[in-house]
Amino acid sequence: ATPMSIISGIGRAAELGILVRDADALQKAASADTIVFDKTGTLTKGSPKITALYCFNDYSEMQVSQLAASLEQGSNHPLAKGIVQFNQENQGELKPLHAFATLQGLGVSGEVEGLELLLGNQALMTQQGVDIQPAMAIFQQQTGRGATVVFFAINRQLAGLFVLSDPLREDSVNALQRLHEQGYHLVMLTGDQEKTARALAQGTVIDSVIAGVLPAEKANIIKALQQEGRNVVMVGDGINDAPALAQADVSIAMGSGSDIAIETAELTLMRHNISAVADALCLSKGILRNMK
Ligand code: ADP
Ligand code: MG
Repeated sequence: ATPMSIISGIGRAAELGILVRDADALQKAASADTIVFDKTGTLTKGSPKITALYCFNDYSEMQVSQLAASLEQGSNHPLAKGIVQFNQENQGELKPLHAFATLQGLGVSGEVEGLELLLGNQALMTQQGVDIQPAMAIFQQQTGRGATVVFFAINRQLAGLFVLSDPLREDSVNALQRLHEQGYHLVMLTGDQEKTARALAQGTVIDSVIAGVLPAEKANIIKALQQEGRNVVMVGDGINDAPALAQADVSIAMGSGSDIAIETAELTLMRHNISAVADALCLSKGILRNMK
């Protein structure tokens, strides 16, 4: 039988906007000492906006915008939405997309008007042999400010550099502070590039940043923390967070996140606010006290 304190805990959680799918999680959360946060869509708003577009090799802004947006029609990544929206605002057209593929943790590829298109991070460009040297100065400067930067190549030639802004939400910064004061070890885990992630974490009380992580590796990072003797809560929103959520001792999904994350997680936050994580952990300690 479920103890009374857990049943009332589930009710209290609901009042706080925390959906409990697995009542055990409320109990287990009381022993957590480490909280791992996904960045995009969990600590940030998750809707990146383009703040600058740089063009290379004689491609125009309109060409780059239209081709990149045409390619991103195939993706539902938050970055894709930002790029499609930017093109729309600039009255760019969308063209038919062929041979679309998602390269997990790297970017996307496809064919538009017979051109071979690649859009993604530095690792993707290196892997595909695209020379990104002309963009590196801007890349360093923008990632240093916490911007997310993606490269665009046409027929393996650098054509554009998109600079996107997806800052930490104000409430995330405050909630992290509250969790830090309670003694939790706080980790940011992201597929985004190291420099961007570090710049965003600076000015917060995040203890450690693990960046450039492929979706398949996210669960291994959780496992490694557990092997260090840590009791880990994972908070995420994406399809790519699901394996890490499954590996963690306690899993929390953002209610705004993907169905897979929500189905995997034991707890779901109906408020898009990290302070609900602090509430959940506080509640679980209260339940434990009541049971003793
Ligand atoms: P995250 O959402 O934490 O950034 P992902 O694994 O989804 O992690 O993506 C890792 C990186 O791969 C992104 O930061 C971006 O550089 C690149 N990427 C992934 N999907 C796309 C996309 N649709 N368009 C452009 N870049 C992408
Ligand atoms: Mg995310």
